[in-house]
Amino acid sequence: MWEIEGIAASAGIAIGQVMHIQECVHDFSRTVAPGEAPREKERFLSAQQVADTELDELQERTAITVGKDQAEVFGAHKLMVQDPSLVDAVFEEIENNCASAEGAVEVAVEAIATMFASLDDEYMRERAADIKDIGKRLLRILQGNVETVNYEGILVASDLLPSDTAAIDFDRVSGFITALGGKTSHSSILARAAGLSAVVGVGCVIDKLCDGDMVIVDGHIGKVLVNPDENLLVEYRQRLQEEKAKTASLAQVGHLPGITLDGHSIEVAANIGTPGDMKKVLAVGADGVGLFRTEFLFLDKTSVPTEEEQFQSYRTVLMAAPYKKIVIRTLDAGGDKQLPFFGGLPEANPALGLRAIRLCMVYKDVFKTQLRALLRAGLEGNLYIMFPMIATLDELLAAKVLLKEVADELANEKIPYRSDVPVGIMIEVPSAAIIADILAEEVDFFSIGTNDLVQYTMAADRMNEHVASLSDYFQPPVIRLIANVTKAAQKSGKWVGMCGEMAGDPLATPLLVGLGLTELSMSARSVPVVKNLVRQLTVEQAKEWAEQILTLRTTADIKKKLEKIAEKFTI
Ligand code: PEP
Ligand code: MG
Repeated sequence: MWEIEGIAASAGIAIGQVMHIQECVHDFSRTVAPGEAPREKERFLSAQQVADTELDELQERTAITVGKDQAEVFGAHKLMVQDPSLVDAVFEEIENNCASAEGAVEVAVEAIATMFASLDDEYMRERAADIKDIGKRLLRILQGNVETVNYEGILVASDLLPSDTAAIDFDRVSGFITALGGKTSHSSILARAAGLSAVVGVGCVIDKLCDGDMVIVDGHIGKVLVNPDENLLVEYRQRLQEEKAKTASLAQVGHLPGITLDGHSIEVAANIGTPGDMKKVLAVGADGVGLFRTEFLFLDKTSVPTEEEQFQSYRTVLMAAPYKKIVIRTLDAGGDKQLPFFGGLPEANPALGLRAIRLCMVYKDVFKTQLRALLRAGLEGNLYIMFPMIATLDELLAAKVLLKEVADELANEKIPYRSDVPVGIMIEVPSAAIIADILAEEVDFFSIGTNDLVQYTMAADRMNEHVASLSDYFQPPVIRLIANVTKAAQKSGKWVGMCGEMAGDPLATPLLVGLGLTELSMSARSVPVVKNLVRQLTVEQAKEWAEQILTLRTTADIKKKLEKIAEKFTI
């Protein structure tokens, strides 16, 4: 047996035989006679048309089998196939270098992919995989091939491209391993949505895997065990059964009220990125939405979504659960989520630069359009508006002034809107946590974003694996800041929620309840597990534990204590 280490992209265990995704074989002539250029251009244009139709069909099929949002990637691919810069690059290669249509596609795609791969922004870097996928599709069409493979078992590929994923029957595949990719690549997102276990970014070691090899994919820890011995197989099969049984038994708990044994209500909510995610939110029994990351409506778009487009998206979310609390965060672009239409000079430290509320206050028109759409949609449900990355009182007051301005404009235009939407902020910058008492007077609620609060408190890039031990929400300073926020909010009678990753970690639940949080928002999958824990706690006991934990000096001590506490519960 041997092991492969990678990135844990989608939790869960999968056991099965390896099957490699078939790569395109390029045995075509790369050059043609100069007079053939018009014919090669024609061939390219017809391939482009076929790709267009294929992508339409794929989008439709994926929307039904996986989900509308996951299918959107094919809409984005359509835009890329039609992109004039791709067409120009292909034509140039045909004309200048007597390339065949195939050769020109290869060269053009490689150049565009290299350009994407060199960008600082992780999201844009991952678009390199998309353009390569488009290249692969065009080459297959040019060579007259059709997709016929029936994949099953554990899929292995250098990168699992969206077109590959669409061809997969999810009942026959249980996991995948890729050489490339990160947690935010499309394949990882699809894996999580489809409930597959996945380990990505393992490197060229995948070349040592052969079709038919037996593997265990442990998506919890990012490990692959190749040709394990019988004892290990038995152990993992047992764990797999336990996981399935646990998921099935907890499914019911998700729909019960999140009430502690001593009668306190803790809302267990879900985070979403698109309106389509509401299906999962309702299926797991979440008490509402604690964070709608609206920037996902802006990604993959060539221009800012219109007020009407945004209004429809917010309305859909609110109407899906009209009686549940829906916290919609205003645009958090910049930083690691650069949007092409904001232009501007590249920043040396984007995470510390023009991001979130800072960017919105520069591009006020974009911000006001979003606020208009939100206030209008507010009539359809239980909307809460939340501003991201507030660092000072002035920023908060300026954002509130703008919101009031938008409301007045709507009133003047006689456009119906909701005038009493509660307004809160994310606490994700240490400065905000420190002056939480001042900010609390100006808001209806706080939601703690631990992903950024940890990054900015510990001065550790949240995407840099080399500082992973610092990027830990169990660091004592982070816990002290959380305590400071809840204390300040309680004094002002405001509620505090949490929507960073920490909220979905069952190990943290007793601590967070003890610190005074009354809303925990997480990925839909974690809702039943956390709700199950909440229902076994008493706030009184949790408070005592939180006090003890606040006196501990190291992350290791804190985790040890929490693990001891966890033993008292059925998780
Ligand atoms: C956070 O920072 O914890 C958060 C929830 O926001 P995001 O992960 O979108 O930055
Ligand atoms: Mg954040």
